[in-house]
Amino acid sequence: MNRSALHKISYGLYVVTSGQDGKFNGQIANSMFQVTSNPATVAISINKENYTHELIKLSRKFVVSILSEEAPMTFIGLFGFKSGRDVNKLQNVKTKTAVTQVPVVLDHTVSYLEVEVDSEMDCGTHTIFVGRIVECDVVSDAVPMTYAYYQKVKGGKSPKTAPTYSKEEPAAAVKPQTAASYVCSVCGYVYEPAKGDPDNGIAAGTPFEDVPDSWTCPVCGADKSKFEIEK
Ligand code: FE
Repeated sequence: MNRSALHKISYGLYVVTSGQDGKFNGQIANSMFQVTSNPATVAISINKENYTHELIKLSRKFVVSILSEEAPMTFIGLFGFKSGRDVNKLQNVKTKTAVTQVPVVLDHTVSYLEVEVDSEMDCGTHTIFVGRIVECDVVSDAVPMTYAYYQKVKGGKSPKTAPTYSKEEPAAAVKPQTAASYVCSVCGYVYEPAKGDPDNGIAAGTPFEDVPDSWTCPVCGADKSKFEIEK
């Protein structure tokens, strides 16, 4: 079986929030699709280990914020590589509440869907939640981020709880560089000198050795010592 075939499936990149009674959380998801048009129904696949999974089970509702290409890696890392059991991810993020009372993430969001869960399917490591859209709106005209864009342009990886996680990410996601690339041993983010980390003040063309020691992984927050030269 050539698992590279799976890397050709196209996805978007979303923040899924859920919860109730003052307990809320959000996480990155890439496995969401519209199931029916009438009524408007969507499905998402969520890892059972994730705190958001627990909150969807409890509240039977969730919100999907569809992210724009401009969403920085720090923002994606906050929702993708940190657990809501340890940090309040929504603390410094612009949100609003509407029909479901679940916080709708508005930062870097092009549109959002508020969903009430109708059914679920146990899929081993993950649960697929299917629900009706009870409210939705467009937030901006920015271009929605695709998963391919996230991987190729942003250098993003899948956290180990993602349905698309693979120990060996596609080699095409990493372009050859003359100066060495460094990989974060915590989350798999690759620092590419040619791209730098402009979101965090590191200009394109900066070799890893010249990145200040105060710099941290834009995805998971690990410090520079956690990076290893990419082989
Ligand atoms: Fe990292």
